[in-house]
Amino acid sequence: MQHKRILVTGGAGFIGSAVTRHLIGNLGANVLVIDKLTYAGNLASLATVARSPSFGFIQADICDEKAMAEAITEFCPDAIMHLAAESHVDRSIDGPSAFIETNIVGTFRLLEAATTYWRGLDQARQKAFRFHHISTDEVFGALGENGKFTHESAYDPRSPYSASKAGSDHLVRAWHHTHGLPVLITNCSNNYGPYHFPEKLVPLMILKGLAGEALPIYGDGSNVRDWLHVEDHARALALVVERGLPGETYLIGGNAEETNLRVVETICDLLDRHAPHPAGHSRRDQISFVSDRPGHDFRYAIDASKIRDDLGWEPSESFATGMEATVLWYLNNRDWWQSIQSGNYRGERLGLNLG
Ligand code: NAD
Repeated sequence: MQHKRILVTGGAGFIGSAVTRHLIGNLGANVLVIDKLTYAGNLASLATVARSPSFGFIQADICDEKAMAEAITEFCPDAIMHLAAESHVDRSIDGPSAFIETNIVGTFRLLEAATTYWRGLDQARQKAFRFHHISTDEVFGALGENGKFTHESAYDPRSPYSASKAGSDHLVRAWHHTHGLPVLITNCSNNYGPYHFPEKLVPLMILKGLAGEALPIYGDGSNVRDWLHVEDHARALALVVERGLPGETYLIGGNAEETNLRVVETICDLLDRHAPHPAGHSRRDQISFVSDRPGHDFRYAIDASKIRDDLGWEPSESFATGMEATVLWYLNNRDWWQSIQSGNYRGERLGLNLG
């Protein structure tokens, strides 16, 4: 990836910033981040690479095809890694319209701009170009107690979020089959790690746990997700864009299935160890069970054998080591999350479908 030119949409978000830090910091690539800076985008997540001559940033909306065309033509990327999205299931229940606009229409506009650019490249660069669409395992719907999603699983999205991501996956595949655009698609399980906006389960529970607040668990906490550390995901994405075969789909997962209750209990125990409560009580006493999320999928699990066998990728963090590193990161980087908490988001419950 040394000196490769990579355009990253959504690069100020949780996963996009991890990808950008990895591409510049570890692989020596040149990165242009395009991000609208919605509530979820935060340039402070890029502070470690922001002064690098290999880093560039444009604030723009992926739905603005003219702005996308200009940015792409000017930067001349070898690859586009597309992570910009509305990403929070609960918000998609309260307000789906931004999800349709950004995830479906925005992906369409970006595909149009990318295809025009790609057609204008010389043959060698055309062949080497990649459009990498980053998606989620949630497009495959819910699993029962057994089985795993594979790259051949049928699409069966259940939430406005997952339906909008499924729509964008289909568009990307259609641009490959119809126009020959060399695309790659990855579908990944739940990520956790540093710089995660505190509306998502893991950071929300760390910060509420630290503040001594109730730790709300949807339903009985038995829903199962596969958990992957975001830096392992970033390494996987860089490998796919470098070595993946055009037209292929790769599933990425952490081999770490855990119930939501177990995730929260693990966080409680780590907080008790690294930041004991002043009165000595156990954080587990703060757990409270609340009404379930409407349409809450029971279980997701990933068969990641294809990316392991074809590209040699495996997660380096286990659930235990990754979760401990994450709790320590939040304890040691209070400035990052306190500046978010002093803005609009106050850790309130979203997605109750109250009309
Ligand atoms: P995030 O919400 O943290 O970041 C999204 C970024 O996109 C933000 O910086 C935001 O400002 C930007 N953005 C939103 N709308 C935009 C628009 N119209 N134009 C330009 N920029 C815009 O999300 P994330 O968790 O980093 O997820 C990144 C991608 O990975 C998403 O496509 C998501 O579907 C996918 N994904 C996420 C997970 C996960 O566990 N978080 C798992 C699998 C896949």
